Amino acid sequence: MVGTHMDESVDIVLVGAGVMSATLATLLHELEPEARIEIIERLDTTASESSFAWNNAGTGHAGLCELNYTPRAEDGSIVLDKAIHTNTLFEESKQLWSYLVEKGNLGDPARFVHPVPHMSFVRGADDVRFLRDRYHAMREHPCFEGMEYTEERSVIDEWAPLLLDGREGDEPLAATRVADGTDVDFGALTRQLLARLEEEPDEQVRITTGQTVEDLDRNDDGSWTLKIAGNDHTTRTLRARFVFLGAGGASLHLLQKSGIPEGKGYAGFPVSGQWLRCDKPEIVSRHHAKVYSKAPIGAPPMSVPHLDTRNVDGTPSLLFGPFAGFTTKFLKTGSVMDLARSVRSSNLSPMLSVARDNFSLVKYLIDQVRLSHEQRVDELRTFYPTAKTEDWRLEIAGQRVQVIKKDPEKGGVLQFGTEVVAASDGSLAALLGASPGASTATSIMINLVEQCFPEKFASDTWQQRLHELVPARADTLADNGQLLRDVRHRTHTTLKLADAQPAPAPVA
Ligand SMILES: Cc1cc2nc3c(=O)[nH]c(=O)nc-3n(C[C@H](O)[C@H](O)[C@H](O)COP(=O)(O)OP(=O)(O)OC[C@H]3O[C@@H](n4cnc5c(N)ncnc54)[C@H](O)[C@@H]3O)c2cc1C
Repeated sequence: MVGTHMDESVDIVLVGAGVMSATLATLLHELEPEARIEIIERLDTTASESSFAWNNAGTGHAGLCELNYTPRAEDGSIVLDKAIHTNTLFEESKQLWSYLVEKGNLGDPARFVHPVPHMSFVRGADDVRFLRDRYHAMREHPCFEGMEYTEERSVIDEWAPLLLDGREGDEPLAATRVADGTDVDFGALTRQLLARLEEEPDEQVRITTGQTVEDLDRNDDGSWTLKIAGNDHTTRTLRARFVFLGAGGASLHLLQKSGIPEGKGYAGFPVSGQWLRCDKPEIVSRHHAKVYSKAPIGAPPMSVPHLDTRNVDGTPSLLFGPFAGFTTKFLKTGSVMDLARSVRSSNLSPMLSVARDNFSLVKYLIDQVRLSHEQRVDELRTFYPTAKTEDWRLEIAGQRVQVIKKDPEKGGVLQFGTEVVAASDGSLAALLGASPGASTATSIMINLVEQCFPEKFASDTWQQRLHELVPARADTLADNGQLLRDVRHRTHTTLKLADAQPAPAPVA
């Protein structure tokens, strides 16, 4: 254990032991094995905030089922850009995991990734028309090869029987299904990535839990000094050439403390989440899919309702939600003062603009907070009509802190994606925001490495190494169907998702 005021130095410090830091540490260790890296986590265990299995939905986001990724354009066509982009970004993550599994460095993939079909399910003539048009637009693209579509109740019943259980009337229904979707336990993945780094014989990566980074200052030589407090009341300082703020919702506070000009004007909009969870084997065994539908009007994009198979610690369960709520905490284990502490003169105006322009969102969150258990189960009944209140219990999800940033026209805008904010000299980077999140951790972190280590990134050594880790980058995959099929064949075999994956088509 470290003592009081013991000054140490490492090359790289990563604040927070979630999936983002674990992915970045893995990449940096592979690219520069001699770099000394320390990961500092305030809780006593790693992967206990957003990356913990029940704090997120575990969807391997690949644009297969998320209807908000494929909006209808004004001319009536379906815009596929976001779905294709997300699909190919997830392929980057699967390639990195496959490389590590093949090298014997990530343990058994069946402990963190499982094949679970991804479905979209809609009701009513308008939404059926939308889903049909979406299917026709998507099925031509190699990213979505194998997508099936039906308006037949008997087929939906075969794909996901709970959806049809006791459903009366003749309302038009439609569904799509992609067999090779995934459910990912990002907590298990994080722990497996970190365990491997800690076990390396060179001992270049150290993971310290139970210590909080309280402050950070830039030194004259461009390096950083972090002030760290232990849960055992010890304090210490640590110097590093590069700092990554992967503290989840708390990254904003640390970014503000860093004082880098690039961080000015950013603010956070915290949204809490809840699920309904069912563990009853007789119900769980009748559903094997992640079924996404349309978000209610006024709901933020991350509130799209879905009924999911989850695989956590070898046990299947069902999850329905998310139900959103308003909170002032930036972490699930954070403080109610988090929001107030983030207010600065530079971000007050963007925050007020967002409050003014997002009244429907605020109303939606207030309505969600007021829901009773019975009302939540009523929402579940739009998916699973015969759901019984007593079979489902409430599970508190992780905290999302959406990014608020300055906007020249509106004063401030609310964003639902992730954003890397980096110092111009590349010595510090912070990750803000939450979606699509963990699925795209590899791509986000490769881009961060390029931004913060531009010369090394361009070098032949790093490029060759990166090519071994992630042989086919997202932009190449989006335009090359055969390459995508070949890459998937490898990753799905390595990650034991192969049963769900058709063999690659022969090259024409
Ligand atoms: C409700 C919900 C559903 C989601 N669903 C999905 C999904 O289906 N698919 C998907 O891909 N993504 C999903 N996400 C997003 C995904 O969970 C996140 O993008 C991802 O887990 C973020 O990882 P992280 O490492 O940045 O943060 P975290 O996992 O939150 O890790 C941050 C760590 O930093 C630590 N920390 C904070 N402050 C300090 C400090 N000062 N000093 C030291 N340590 C500190 C925290 O304790 C924590 O362990 C969801 C998120 C939520 C909230």
